[in-house]
Formats: sequence, C-alpha cells, structure tokens
Amino acid sequence: MRFFIKKTYLCTKFQEQTTIIMAPNTTNTEQPAIKMNLIGLLKNILPFVKPYRWLVILTLALTFIGSLMAQVNAVVLDRAVDAINAMMQTSFAWSQAAKLLFTISAILLGKEVISAFITFGQRYFGEKMRILISRDLSLKVVDRMLSFRMAFFSSEGNETGKLQSRIDRGIQSLSNTVNNFFIEILPLFTSAVFALILMFAANVYVGLVALCIVPIYFYLTYVQANHLKGWRRNIFSSHQAVSQGILNIIESISVIKSFNREDIEAARQAAIQDAMTSQQMNTRRLSFFFNGLKSFFEQIGTVLIIILTAYLVLTDYPGMSIGKIMYHVMLFANVSAPIRQLHRIYDDMNDALIYAEGFFGILHADDEVEDTGTWHPAQVLGDFEMSGVDFTYGNGTKALTDVTLHIPSGKITALVGLSGAGKSTIVNLLDKFYHPDCGSIRLDGHELRQWDTQWLRENVGLVLQKNHIFSGSIEENIRYGNPRATHEDVVKAARQAYIYDQIMQLPGGFASQALQLSGGQQQRIAIARMFIKNPPIIFLDEPTASLDAIATEQIKASIDAIKAGRTVIIISHNIGQIIDSDQIYVLQKGHVVQSGTPSEVYRQGGLYKDIFDASARSMNVDKIADTINES
Ligand code: ADP
Repeated sequence: MRFFIKKTYLCTKFQEQTTIIMAPNTTNTEQPAIKMNLIGLLKNILPFVKPYRWLVILTLALTFIGSLMAQVNAVVLDRAVDAINAMMQTSFAWSQAAKLLFTISAILLGKEVISAFITFGQRYFGEKMRILISRDLSLKVVDRMLSFRMAFFSSEGNETGKLQSRIDRGIQSLSNTVNNFFIEILPLFTSAVFALILMFAANVYVGLVALCIVPIYFYLTYVQANHLKGWRRNIFSSHQAVSQGILNIIESISVIKSFNREDIEAARQAAIQDAMTSQQMNTRRLSFFFNGLKSFFEQIGTVLIIILTAYLVLTDYPGMSIGKIMYHVMLFANVSAPIRQLHRIYDDMNDALIYAEGFFGILHADDEVEDTGTWHPAQVLGDFEMSGVDFTYGNGTKALTDVTLHIPSGKITALVGLSGAGKSTIVNLLDKFYHPDCGSIRLDGHELRQWDTQWLRENVGLVLQKNHIFSGSIEENIRYGNPRATHEDVVKAARQAYIYDQIMQLPGGFASQALQLSGGQQQRIAIARMFIKNPPIIFLDEPTASLDAIATEQIKASIDAIKAGRTVIIISHNIGQIIDSDQIYVLQKGHVVQSGTPSEVYRQGGLYKDIFDASARSMNVDKIADTINES
C-alpha cells in the first residue's frame, strides 16, 4: 500500500514540476465528435471558397441573369395568349398572325440561346470551383495529417480504412455541395423569388396562394429530413466499416487463405453489407413516401392557382385576362421547382453535414498536432534521462509505470524483456512520438518537450523490426535518409549495410523497385537509410529479427562499426547482441525490474537470467559448441 501511495505521489510530483513547460497530455485521442449545423458548415467551407471570389461573383451574376431569363417563357406566353385571343375577337389578317408568331418564336429562341450560354457559364465556373476546392481540401487534409502526432493514428476511429473513407467522402461531398449550391440551389431559388415577385405584381391574391403553399413543402421536407437523419448517419458509419473491412481482407489475405477462412470473412462482409442495404432501403422508402406527398401538395397548389385566376378572369377583375391563367401556372411552376428539389437539396446538405463532421473533425483536431519546442543545440550528445515516467496508449493500455532510466551518451544500452513489456514504447517516447502521462524525459539536460521535434529526429536513426519501404527505386529508398546525398553516398551506405552486392545482381541495379526485395533485403535497405542519415543517436528495435543468420552476422558487424561514439539503444531477443551492450535495462509489464552491465544483471538472477538461459537452451548451445569443437 505504501508503495502505491509513493508511486502516485511521484507521478503527481513530476507532473506539477513540469506543468510550466508541458502542455496537458491528451491520452484519450479519440476524435472529438464535432456536431455540424448549416452555419458551421458554411463557416468551415468559406475559407476554401474565398480564394475563388471572382469565380463566385461571376457565377452569381450569371445566376441573376439566368433567373430573369427563366421568367421569359411565362411573360411571352401570357402576352401571346392575350394577343391571339384579341385577334380572334376581330377579323384578323394572316400576315398579322404570322408576324405575331414570328416575334414569339424569335423571343423564345433568342432567350434559349442566351440561356444556353448562361447555363454553360454557370456549369463551367461551378465545376471549376468544385475541382479547385476539392484539390485544396485534399492538400489541406494531407498537410494536417502529416502534422499530427502518432497517437492520432493509433486512436480508435482513425484506422486506415475509416480515415480514408472520411477523407474521400468528405472531400467529395463538400466540393459537390459548393458546386450544387452555385449551379442548382442558387439559380432555382433566385428564379423562384423572381417568379413570386411577378405573381404578386400580377395579383396579390394569386401571390398569396403561391406563398402559402411554400411553407407546407418546407414543413414536409423538414419532417422527411428529420426522419432520415439517423438512417443517413448509419449509412455513413457503414461505409466506413465496409472500407475498413475490405482493407483488413487485403492486408490479411495470406492469413485468411492459409487458414481457409474465406467463408468467415465473406460472411462478415455480408453482415455489414446487409445492414447497409436495409438502411438504404429504409431511407429510399421514406423518401419516396414524402416525395409523393409533396407532389400531391404541389398539384393542389397548381389547381388552386388555376381556380383563383379563372375566377378573377370570369369576374372581370382589373388586369386579368385569359393569358394570366397560363402565366400564373408557369410562374408557379418556377416557384415550386426548387421546392420540388428541396428534399434532394436537403439530403445532399444532410450528407454534407455528416461528412463535414468527419472531415473537419480531422482539420480541427488541433490537440493532435505534434508540438515542438525550440531547443536546437548545435551538437546533440544523446544523454537521455527518464524519471518516474508513466505512459498509457489512447486505447487505455498502460504500457509504462514509474520508469526511471539513464541512457548515457556514446554507450550501448539494451532493453530486454518479454513481448509487451514496454520496450518499444520507451523508444517511441524518446523519439517524441508520444508524450508521457507524467514524469520527465530529458535529453542532454533539457526536457524533451522543449526540443525542436524536427531537430531531435534529425539526430535520431530509427531501425524497426519491419521498416517501411516506399514504392520507388532502391536508390530513392536509401536516399530517403538524406535527400542531399549523392549517388556515391548511396552506394557507400549500401556497402555498409551489406546489400551492395545483391543490389548489383539485380538487372536494374540501384534503379530497381525496392518493393520487389525480400523482407531481409528490405531490412538492409532500411539500415542503409540510417547509415546515410548518420545520426548521433540510434534506436534499433529488433533490427535483425527478420534476417537469416548470415545477414544477421553481417548487419551485426556493420552496426558494431557505427556504434562507436554514438548513443545506441537496442531492443533485441538475440542474446548475442545484448551481451555486447554496455548496460541493460530489464523490463517487465511496464516496470524496470533490473539494470546494470549484462554480466552484473545475469549474476543477480531473476528475469534476465531466465530469458538468457532459455535463449541459450533454445539455441542448443552445448550441442552447437560440441559440433564446432568436433570439426
Ligand atoms: P515490447 O516492445 O516490449 O514488446 P510494447 O512497448 O510494444 O512492448 O508494448 C507495451 C504494451 O503497450 C503492450 O501491452 C502493447 O499491447 C501496448 N501497445 C503497444 N503499442 C500500442 C498502440 N499503438 N496502441 C495501443 N497499445 C499499444
């Protein structure tokens, strides 16, 4: 019990000591659920539209002219019907009728030509805006993701497939929204407003009838959208699950096949798809029902307009003529056109709101941005000190508890322990991929948080058990360690990593695709990458785990060569590499349980001796020695 209290005190104490320079550590890195409303959406999207304000102004001008043009048909037909009607009351000359028809045709055709240009302009500028905005959104999100700390990528909800789906669908939906707004929503609504003004100008009662129908549509659309919102959100989650599922299958295909588990995987996908299908069907069913209801009300509106206008015409209401029936019906069609589209606009908007939540959630994850200090010394010695460090991953796994250790500059320190003991976590913390919950980490006497993160990493070479090889040539992959390196530097690094001869045997030499290399060869490319970077601090996390015996020996030799004068931390299960180190720290379940030189710690007994002896036994050291002696 005393021990527990002491530990808590230590943890709290260090936290207090370091609060001045430490931002609070966010261990729960799950995405904050941003609830997006229309205003929020507009506010978020505005900065992306702003750079194209001239396109916006141009499109708005075209919209204005286009909306006026949309009323021409109604006006012309009104006049035409009245003129023909007047002609029929008198004995007219056919030449007079032909002139009238010619004028009508010329106006209508002329209007169509102008409208065609306007529509072309609107669509072209709208599409241009969509393409440019979608490019800017992509660039911005990539920029943001590159700036995030590691914790972001390992937190729940940010799995590769889900992130990809959030980004793809977010960009698609947001750029479409901008496009729809300018080439559909805005023209339709402007045209509706003009039509309504003309209806009021023609007759207040007719205008009022048209105006009264509008709120009914809005109400129905609102009810429809509310019913659909939950379903649409579920569909969005299902899309993410489908993406993640497919990605998992591709990544694990060899395991799936070797265990003959194709049926299980197919069934799992089928379950996700089934759920999505029923959600989609429910959405459609509800949409069709409401659309029918709205069509019905639109027809009621048209009937009311016809009855009212006919009544006014029959009662000789001033300004009312037979042409007004056609005129009002056509104007009402313009008023109800956007309203007919309202549900689709609403649906698109709702999608945009849902996708925007996911997308802008990434852009606004400010607390995920990797923080950096300013400490940038000319020389980095590589003397690390960890005191009372606790660390918990975003998913709640406590990986380190009260870890105190010293990694002296220019020495080799081995971290030893069973799998899951917390060895890699220590390396992650020392490279500032994560920050400790509490406790302090110092490098050359300065808090790690104060260090310029880029400068720190410039001085650290990290070789992992499985290193990432990029699609590209071998030369490009090695040069990744130092973009300024010459071809000669690349060749030298390849020699140091004992991969040069194998590269030269490939038909393309250094220009060959790096991904075609075997796992062990790729590992040596990663080691060559570290040689070319030539940092004073080296972290080796099981660097030879995937290599054969000869390669392991070669790599050991080359690592031995660059160890001199550098700070090296090595994590290895290979006792041959551990006993070469200057000191070791033995970890068990996130605690440091032993430390000292390899022989001192061995003499202490305990976990290290158990691991060492088991390792020697598994290698059958006695028989190996006998075999060597016999030969
Ligand atoms: P070791 O290197 O000794 O094998 P690690 O440092 O990799 O151990 O892991 C220590 C503990 O932290 C383990 O329980 C492991 O499951 C957990 N862990 C490691 N990486 C992550 C991660 N990215 N997210 C959540 N838990 C993790």
